[in-house]
Amino acid sequence: MNEELLKKELVHISHKVYKRGLTQATGGNISVRVPGRDAILIKRSGISLGEVTKEDALLLSREGDILEGYGTPSKEYRFHLGIYRTRPDVQAVVHCHPNYAIGYACLGIELPLPTVTAQKILGHVPVTEAAPSGSQELAYYVTEVFEKYPNIKAALMKDHGICAVGPSLEAAYNIATLVEDTAKQAFIKMQIQRALSQMNKREAIQ
Ligand code: 13P
Ligand code: ZN
Repeated sequence: MNEELLKKELVHISHKVYKRGLTQATGGNISVRVPGRDAILIKRSGISLGEVTKEDALLLSREGDILEGYGTPSKEYRFHLGIYRTRPDVQAVVHCHPNYAIGYACLGIELPLPTVTAQKILGHVPVTEAAPSGSQELAYYVTEVFEKYPNIKAALMKDHGICAVGPSLEAAYNIATLVEDTAKQAFIKMQIQRALSQMNKREAIQ
């Protein structure tokens, strides 16, 4: 896919992430490798994913220098570049702030995988250490987790959000949706289990 088409896809996926409620306000950022250029397209900093246009896709070198476009690149460009460095198979990265997955991330718990679909497709979703957004430290932790587990498709980021990767923007987006829906299903399962055990306790007393 050429750079123009990739920009269009970056806009399309950004809007889908926002419309599906996988992030809020100006949270989240998305990037994609540009074939044959040793560079990535990444969202401009401080803009809502719901409002992204083609002009908000900046071309960055592997060192983080702006090659094309205006404005400041996403403050998380370091962990995007870190993932591409450590995972040659990854073509696209979706970082967002989905509510249920963040619940587990804040507690530092790996994503529970209650369904066969999640077990098969996600396999293992670890959680990183916490660090301020945009920091070198966060970039280190996120890169480290993708290095430590070279087959993972997503990671939870403690006190922050998630990072999903894939062979295309669409694939990384699909992983992000599966992570969030799996977190929701795990939460519902836990609630039902709790309600059932309360009922059983009450019946035992009566
Ligand atoms: P940017 O607007 O700089 O991409 O930051 C959003 C975000 O999610 C920071 O973690
Ligand atoms: Zn974020």
